[in-house]
Amino acid sequence: MQLFQDQQIKIYNSLTGKKELFKPINEGHIGMYVCGPTVYSNVHLGNVRTFMSFDMIFRYLKHLGYKVRYVRNITDAGHLENDADAGEDKITKKARLEQIEPMEVVQRYTVDFHNILNTFNFLPPSIEPTATGHIIEQIELIKSIIDNGFAYVVNGSVYFDVHKFNESHEYGKLSKRKLEDLIHNTRELDGQSDKKNPQDFALWKKAEPQHIMRWPSPWGDGFPGWHLECTAMSTKYLGDRFDIHGGGMDLKFPHHECEIAQNEAAKGESPVNYWMHANMLELNGQRMSKSTGNTVNPDELLSGNNKFFSKAYAPSVIRFFIAQSSYRSVLDLTDDGLLASEKGFFRLMDAINQLDSLQASKASTIDINAWKQACYDAMNDDFNSPIVIAHLFEAVKYINQVKEGVETLTEADLALLKETINIFTFDVLGLENVTKKESGTDKLSAAVDILIKLRQEARANRDFALSDQIRDELANAGIQLKDGKDGTSFSVN
Ligand code: AMP
Ligand code: ZN
Repeated sequence: MQLFQDQQIKIYNSLTGKKELFKPINEGHIGMYVCGPTVYSNVHLGNVRTFMSFDMIFRYLKHLGYKVRYVRNITDAGHLENDADAGEDKITKKARLEQIEPMEVVQRYTVDFHNILNTFNFLPPSIEPTATGHIIEQIELIKSIIDNGFAYVVNGSVYFDVHKFNESHEYGKLSKRKLEDLIHNTRELDGQSDKKNPQDFALWKKAEPQHIMRWPSPWGDGFPGWHLECTAMSTKYLGDRFDIHGGGMDLKFPHHECEIAQNEAAKGESPVNYWMHANMLELNGQRMSKSTGNTVNPDELLSGNNKFFSKAYAPSVIRFFIAQSSYRSVLDLTDDGLLASEKGFFRLMDAINQLDSLQASKASTIDINAWKQACYDAMNDDFNSPIVIAHLFEAVKYINQVKEGVETLTEADLALLKETINIFTFDVLGLENVTKKESGTDKLSAAVDILIKLRQEARANRDFALSDQIRDELANAGIQLKDGKDGTSFSVN
């Protein structure tokens, strides 16, 4: 199936600020790198949103028939507190607090990450390399950057010389920052730094005696800087220049800016043709972030056990909610939004489940081919999933109209409609076909709703012993009832 030859994709390239026609370096092949999680705590739904956007993109490119090599790393060393060049390693800090080995931290949260992604029906990437597995490659890169005159060694650490680099290259071209402005805006680091300039960043940090995660290097025992791992792993598996590099918007600066600088300094080549940045998920109007604690973890949303939402939501409902926004828009996670998505999702599934019972006619009154191309056009337009979903609802309308006999479709058009719906709903958007009844959340909801009703009747009859018993026994079973102004809701522990 050589579908990709027929579809022209446009991608919004963060580097140029324009939607550009996508042309892979090697025809039929695509190399895509996405910055993965730092595995020092459970992923939150903001992280999930970013990875989900790239999962959908991966799915679509594969569907078109491209051979995609999708590399998504695991950061298991080198990422310091506050994303800075000083302070404790995030993983070592967690290990110290929990009194376990850093690699136990890494293992625990890597497993958690994979479990979450499985729950949300992600496709695994082609390669999932770790920073600690690529120390030698990182040391080699540093040597090249030093040899080319863009880095300096101080007290066992190596820093990238941003000022020197900017004399012959353009530091800041991705994030649209000028070095002069950065100089103006950077606070002086009251003398505790070995850096020549505060804008310089660490390629290698000397390990203090108590630092556990350390490796030998030509500059002494230490560990790599955070930005370096992605340069090492992306180019190792995808080549010095590859097609797509993705990540969350917050990684544009300094992380991705530094990746470009490192690659240009080491290899004389800009690494990436299309930079893609996914926008942030907010929780009640504020960016979801580990550092501020404004987060909801997937299992809290899936179980309903949280203080923000009125009920539990199925994984596909959350996936559908996320796909209803363009990956480039800010998305606010709210109960109203999730409830609306849940309704829409089950409406779509109900319609899909009726497809097989539709009667074919001799002639079609709907142009299914045009509708199908409209679905492709939406995805081709910078992976515009909300428009794809609008077209899927158009198909729901067709299904109902054919059922009612208002419109007709031939056998062939019915088959095409079904095939195309399946492609976009399940293969590309990655949704799973669950009906309201089948989704665990709703079976449970139905049962608990009956008990809530019985409790209300008990109260109305002033039988408080029974109403308390219902509440307490549900609590013992891990189901908390919450009485609010709009009635009683529940959450699951
Ligand atoms: P981290 O583990 O903090 O390095 O983050 C992993 C990925 O999640 C990165 O691509 C971040 O850009 C992304 N990310 C972090 N917070 C959010 C958020 N609130 N919304 C969307 N993506 C996020
Ligand atoms: Zn990265």
